[in-house]
Amino acid sequence: MSKIPLPKKIRESIEWKIRDMNSRVCNWVLRVQSQPLKVSNKPAIVFAPHQDDETIGCGGMIALKRSQGIPVKVVFLTDGRYGRPEWIKAEEIIQVRQQEALSALDNLGIEKSQTYFLGYTDGSLAQLTSEQRQQLIDYLVALLKSFQPGEIYVPHSKDGHPDHEATYEVVQMAIAQSETHLELLQYPIWIFWYNVLPFKLCLQYIAHHAYRLCISSVHEQKKQAISRYKSQVPNIPNSLLTSFFAPYEIFIKN
Ligand SMILES: [Zn+2]
Repeated sequence: MSKIPLPKKIRESIEWKIRDMNSRVCNWVLRVQSQPLKVSNKPAIVFAPHQDDETIGCGGMIALKRSQGIPVKVVFLTDGRYGRPEWIKAEEIIQVRQQEALSALDNLGIEKSQTYFLGYTDGSLAQLTSEQRQQLIDYLVALLKSFQPGEIYVPHSKDGHPDHEATYEVVQMAIAQSETHLELLQYPIWIFWYNVLPFKLCLQYIAHHAYRLCISSVHEQKKQAISRYKSQVPNIPNSLLTSFFAPYEIFIKN
């Protein structure tokens, strides 16, 4: 007897509900199992594949550091062109997302001069030729050597989105090639959305390496910064938004 396939819309709706529930449960486990983390006085660079990852993943950390005058740079790797809602024209989306990023970062205390837009095509980072990849790594090595950060923030290595995982990889290679000593902290964005099945395994690994930074003193500031991403917020699933609006941030250390 052949199976009757579920209509696409019903299947997608069930998948969405499973991902949503998975995400809520995993984030709850992370919150209760993670160890407390204090903000350090080390200068930092946040690497973000798209304009919004830095604020939703690390906005509280950025605001805390900037409130103490600690230097923070933000590097955007792609142009974000495919995160386009219908009401924005294709030829305008890159500019719109850059403006949203500058506005969000201004809210967190970062000046335009400390923000870098590398402009790789959205979705292309995992498909760069070896030459393009090395060019990017060389650029990052030069940045690391000139700025000498004590901390680097990148999306999680298993974040489930090709640009996010590729960002982790190129930054990791740049750190190795720069021979600088610094601490690497990974911020999760999509990890529990795209990794539904191996979630138990995921938790066993992450729960032992997860740290929780209290950001309650800059919580409102972070929420305002997220709200500057008017083109992006409506597309973020609710369960993820809830975790991004929490008064703490989770970072994974190797
Ligand atoms: Zn992203």
